[in-house]
Amino acid sequence: MNLEEKISKYGRNMSSSIIREILKYAADEDAISFGGGVPDPETFPRKELAEIAREIVLNEYHYTLQYSTTEGDPLLKRQIIKLLERMYGLTGLDEDNLVFTMGSQQALDLIGKIFLDDESYCVLDDPAYLGAINAFKQYLANFIVVPLQKDGMDLDFLEKKLKELADRGEIKKVKFIYVVSNFHNPAGVTTSLEKRKALVEVAEKYDLFIVEDDPYGALRYEGETIDPIFKIGGPERVVLLNTFSKVLSPGLRIGVVIGDKALIRKVVQAKQSADLCSPAITHRLAARYLERYDLLEQLKPTIELYRRKRKVMLEALEEYFSDIPGVEWVKAEGGLFIWLSLPKGFDTWEMFEYAKRKKIFYVPGRVFKVYDEPSPSMRLSFCLPPDEKIVEGVKRLREVVLAYGTEKSLI
Ligand SMILES: *Cc1c(COP(=O)(O)O)cnc(C)c1O
Repeated sequence: MNLEEKISKYGRNMSSSIIREILKYAADEDAISFGGGVPDPETFPRKELAEIAREIVLNEYHYTLQYSTTEGDPLLKRQIIKLLERMYGLTGLDEDNLVFTMGSQQALDLIGKIFLDDESYCVLDDPAYLGAINAFKQYLANFIVVPLQKDGMDLDFLEKKLKELADRGEIKKVKFIYVVSNFHNPAGVTTSLEKRKALVEVAEKYDLFIVEDDPYGALRYEGETIDPIFKIGGPERVVLLNTFSKVLSPGLRIGVVIGDKALIRKVVQAKQSADLCSPAITHRLAARYLERYDLLEQLKPTIELYRRKRKVMLEALEEYFSDIPGVEWVKAEGGLFIWLSLPKGFDTWEMFEYAKRKKIFYVPGRVFKVYDEPSPSMRLSFCLPPDEKIVEGVKRLREVVLAYGTEKSLI
């Protein structure tokens, strides 16, 4: 049978993560990888979770081993509502404002399914989160791609594009603006309070939704917490995505959508046809964990660990890159990534061949482009390699940049 012939126009728009392809080289013994976007497994509270897992299987099997509701575990909802109030001062939320998804990735897919088709537009930044690009592309959406600046999206650019669509009578086709508000993946940037407010104003002016994706908010290493866009714009205007992947364990696959009740009902319907329900067992595991332990307290050693590694990487960049003109990097105040940009003309995708030879791995910026095009930037994650490998890796990266730059007469 000819499989290609059978596949629908939606099926044809699916693609697999290039990051996985790239990172298979990093398995080598003496390789150093800044590529992985995953948390350090040593930070997972495995003893605590193991103990609770045994208890909930033996004593709560009626719930944990059964089908559950599409919305998810009410006990976990209660815990999340408390957590959001402590972290962000969010109040007034009740159970009907929340639905759990299989990680935030499912939320992105369901939001794509609910809002997008080949006639719609959504707003993404440049660079953008790969998981969001892939999820929204499947539904054949058109994109307004807005450059990301040091304090968030370039709002003048966004307004210009929206005005053009409004002038053409097409503004109704624009559905939402997707934003990673804290410690952006890949760019490390945090949207400033001013821009959050201005973004809500733009969304109100053109009657658009904002999808705020906030997986890293609790992983702040310096500076003060900023109000979520959700708090500024309210649930009528903003839907907030949260996840336990970066603060507890990605293997639990627990994401949560927080929003207006009517939207949540829509997400529940979409989830029902996708998978009926999430596993009750991981929901109850997380709920009991949060009842017993203070997540924000438990996170302190993790934050210490990542804060130190981030410092090691920033100091190494200072030592090995500050003498190369035109090189810049974003000093992310939290999260897992540093975004390093080389001078104009560099193509970090092409340069990857040089990196392979030196056994140093990164994720080329091209991966985070909505429309495939070269990029002089790369994403570096500091969270997995030990300190001395971070320094050695940055040193190798310098050699790679100098070798490529010299050969291409860029420096
Ligand atoms: C890691 C990450 C997620 C989380 O994905 P899960 O499906 O919850 O594991 C979502 N958005 C961004 C921007 C991320 O970096």
